[in-house]
Amino acid sequence: MTDIIDDTQIELECGNCGGKTKKNVRWIMDHDKFICECGNLIHVDPGKYRKELTKIESKLDGVQGLMEKFGVK
Ligand SMILES: [Zn+2]
Repeated sequence: MTDIIDDTQIELECGNCGGKTKKNVRWIMDHDKFICECGNLIHVDPGKYRKELTKIESKLDGVQGLMEKFGVK
């Protein structure tokens, strides 16, 4: 179960250079910000990844509270 979460990647898009960096869900849970290669500080906003989280949740039957953990409502 946790392996599936680890393997699920979410794209973080930089508002400065437009660069996209893939991070897995576990990483996003552990971080609330990220510094792009260009030096721009990106705030990791779980609300933006709601769609992806919903998909993950539907895949992982029985995983409850993932959205809550992200603070997504
Ligand atoms: Zn950037």
